[in-house]
Amino acid sequence: MLEESEARRRILELTSPGVVIWVPLELALDQVIAQDITGIIDSPLFDNSAMDGYALKAHEATVGSRLRVGPVTQAAGGDLGLRCDSGEAIRIFTGAVIPQGADAVIMQEDVERRGDFIEIVESVAPGEYIRWRGSDVCAGQKLLKRGEIMTPTRIGLLASQGIAEIPVYGKPLVQIVTTGDELVEPGAPLIPGEIYDSNAPMLQTAVARAGGIGAASHAYDDLTELKEVLGRALAAADMVVIAGGVSVGERDFVKEALTELGVVTEFWRVNVKPGKPFVFGRHPDGTLVFGLPGNPVSAYVTFSLFVMPVIRKMLGHEVDAGSPGLGGLSGVAAEPLSNPGDRPHYLRGVCEGGKIRLSGTQQSHAIFGLSRANCLIRLGPGEKVETGGRVSGFAL
Ligand code: AMP
Ligand code: MG
Repeated sequence: MLEESEARRRILELTSPGVVIWVPLELALDQVIAQDITGIIDSPLFDNSAMDGYALKAHEATVGSRLRVGPVTQAAGGDLGLRCDSGEAIRIFTGAVIPQGADAVIMQEDVERRGDFIEIVESVAPGEYIRWRGSDVCAGQKLLKRGEIMTPTRIGLLASQGIAEIPVYGKPLVQIVTTGDELVEPGAPLIPGEIYDSNAPMLQTAVARAGGIGAASHAYDDLTELKEVLGRALAAADMVVIAGGVSVGERDFVKEALTELGVVTEFWRVNVKPGKPFVFGRHPDGTLVFGLPGNPVSAYVTFSLFVMPVIRKMLGHEVDAGSPGLGGLSGVAAEPLSNPGDRPHYLRGVCEGGKIRLSGTQQSHAIFGLSRANCLIRLGPGEKVETGGRVSGFAL
């Protein structure tokens, strides 16, 4: 049986970043930029006023002096090509082009306006309240490095450069396939023995949260139907994530269906709890296939450990096989914790104020506890932690 990080290493080895697509800036939020971006224009592009006031020659603006206000006002917008002559001040507003001959802007609060004249109340230094060309960004300057994540402020920066579209790694299309004769879509009535399918909406939205595009379909425990549903999923998606049917039950047809569809099983079973029956395979066309245990808790934990890192790598993020790439977390046990088993165990926990406790019952069908958990606690084989001992894990 493979160790957890060896399993992740083998999966990531077969994963490459998705195709590069150009997207409008507004759609690039949280995406990873696929090439370096260099400044195209100086910013500001022209010397302009930082204040509403008067453009003038600073050495003429001594306290008490009077300057004649030119007949034309320069507001933000078209450059009127004004000149500021000796003894003159030109009315100007924030963002407007500095008239030739002016070397400062005085705030309107620092003058007294008297008809066509202003009287200086506070003097002004050369360069004051002028935003000089290129003082923020110079053309040719590196603005973003490949691999950086697009935030609203970086989107604003690129917009200020006149850039409308940028190259990012396309979102992988992830088809979730749930299996089981007992499963019914939420909203429909149940007959005795049936249960609602919680994995489909949970995993579909987990894909979306990881940055991929999730879709879901269902197959009954029937080899022919399973092959049909999986065949369609393989043709359509970059990744197929199957929940259930991967164990050794007589009605667990997933591995057989995958083999008949030409998927090469890279490995089955990982030395981790939950996750023992985890399957990873690859179709010759490159589609990656993951088989998760059907129990919702196990499905979610194995998705987090082995599928999420793949989605992130396809999106262009740096991913290290040594860790699932969830936020690392450490704290102090609020209760005794133990793993009597011989596999590393991920327990569902709640971390609050640096204290970590279990989130309800730890059985793998117990989705309530999972829904209250904000972290996974990792305990090694045979590990025991007393109250107050250090524990580590990952944020969910
Ligand atoms: P399996 O891995 O198919 O043997 O399923 C293990 C357990 O998980 C069984 O109790 C199933 O009923 C349950 N299960 C499988 N798939 C789902 C699902 N999509 N939603 C809720 N429970 C499921
Ligand atoms: Mg099943």
